[in-house]
Amino acid sequence: MGISIDVSQPEGKKQMATTEQATRTDILVVGSGFGGVGAHLYLEKEWGVKNFIIVEKESNVGGIWWKNTYPGVACDVPPQLYSYSRDIDPTPIRYPNQRSTLGYLEGLPGRHNLDRGHLRFNARVYALDYNDRMGEWTAKTKNVGTDGETEGSVYVAKFVILAAGQLDEPFVPGIIGQEVFQGPAFHTARWDHDQDLRGKKVAVIGTGPSATQLIPEIAKIAQNVTIYQRTPNWVLPRPSAEFGPITKWALKNSTKAQRLYRVGAYWLADFLLSPITSRGWSAGPLEWVARRQLRKQVPDRALREKVTPDFPLGCKRFILSQDYYPALMRGNVELVTDPIKEIVATGIVTDTNTLREADIIVYATGFHTTEFYKNMDIRGRGGRSLKEDIWENGQEAYLGVAFEGLPNLAALHGPGSFTAAGSNVIMKEHQLHLIGNMLKLLWSWKNAAIEVLPETMERYRRERDEIIRNSVLLGCDSWYRDKQTGQVVNPYGRSMWSFRRQTRRNPREDFGPISLTGE
Ligand code: NAP
Repeated sequence: MGISIDVSQPEGKKQMATTEQATRTDILVVGSGFGGVGAHLYLEKEWGVKNFIIVEKESNVGGIWWKNTYPGVACDVPPQLYSYSRDIDPTPIRYPNQRSTLGYLEGLPGRHNLDRGHLRFNARVYALDYNDRMGEWTAKTKNVGTDGETEGSVYVAKFVILAAGQLDEPFVPGIIGQEVFQGPAFHTARWDHDQDLRGKKVAVIGTGPSATQLIPEIAKIAQNVTIYQRTPNWVLPRPSAEFGPITKWALKNSTKAQRLYRVGAYWLADFLLSPITSRGWSAGPLEWVARRQLRKQVPDRALREKVTPDFPLGCKRFILSQDYYPALMRGNVELVTDPIKEIVATGIVTDTNTLREADIIVYATGFHTTEFYKNMDIRGRGGRSLKEDIWENGQEAYLGVAFEGLPNLAALHGPGSFTAAGSNVIMKEHQLHLIGNMLKLLWSWKNAAIEVLPETMERYRRERDEIIRNSVLLGCDSWYRDKQTGQVVNPYGRSMWSFRRQTRRNPREDFGPISLTGE
């Protein structure tokens, strides 16, 4: 059954011609973070695809784990859960640091004899155009060099996997006077390792997960750290990072132990953490646990009040830490809650006209999270733009994977598929399963492209509305919400198991063929 869809070109939007010089490939993967590396594994080992190219704008695989190198950067999900099921990370530690997580990704191709020849580094896809006649995509790239960008290769692909990530583009707020600051100023995701923080006065703007990992580390060496907090966050205790010697040995050496730990952690996350988004059974007890840690670690009542959140747990991405509150108690750390008025040459001035001097400013201010594919112009059927036309009423993708109007394209970690209560690698693996089913269906058809059905999207929208209506996600501002419209773009909002079930539905019910106009 086909879908009847108008493929006429809107005025002024001509389809890009397939150039003579273009490199043809069956599948083009955009990005080589966890999603892109996972796609590489699945393409070669599960789907038997030989002709594919992975384009990455950085000079290495790793995505956020390549770019975030600030002191204290770590993953607050156990490595056994934050890895792919056919390559469980054996690192015998409860929470891996950035080096270890990046090492896992860098080592994955070698462990599975994957062909690294598919990878193209320092190449940024800036335009993706669908060709209605041929049912294929043309991708234009820029070569990324130290001196800037130059026009790069053009690829023509039958299918595109967008693994471009969401926490990619650092967000630095525009603050009056920031250009006159005389010292170094940089974002957590662009850490300047040339700067020695020892004995310096450091200002940190923001108190999200990145800031709360960073602050305890730099407070040990800086002369003083001034933290500018706009909103306090929920902080849950993080169990000790170290395992006992027997568990350590078992996790390092036994695949059975790794699997067991993975399954246990999966169900614990689904049972305990996942219900908080819908204010389920564990929300109250976990808030109590967080408050208890706060009372124990922050005896100063005034400071405690300043860091007590006034929104329900789960509304923002919660924090797991056992050393953030103790860092606030140090003599060389000050928490400032007065709003920032301006930045001057020597420091930061708040609304009370108080100047606090700083040698270095760190922006721990998050990412452009709700502008998916920010620097990419994506045009689907009939030359319709994803951002201007298809997403006119808000950003959405079926299970974070499929888009109306973009045939033969699938995303990893598109809108609505983030989880704060489990492992985003597992969410991606569930999505890879769905993408595999889409590909099988596509290959079973002749002369057609594959696209999510309008009725599937209708059903998905109804379900998503219900998830959001029954959640705490509208109870505060967060990076999950579009800044202009307030639309909740993430997270998924239910358990990993529920997501697994959704991604394993019969694809014949949810996807349909799009006829190629050139055939
Ligand atoms: P974030 O959660 O978006 O936090 C940004 C912080 O900057 C917030 O405290 C925010 O305050 C503040 N801020 C933004 N604009 C500001 C302004 N104009 N003035 C003052 N403060 C401002 O960013 P993040 O900490 O980098 O974390 C982003 C995501 O990365 C996390 O949610 C998580 O998913 C991921 N992450 C994961 C791990 C891990 O261990 N797995 C570690 C780090 C990060 P408001 O709250 O008021 O907006």
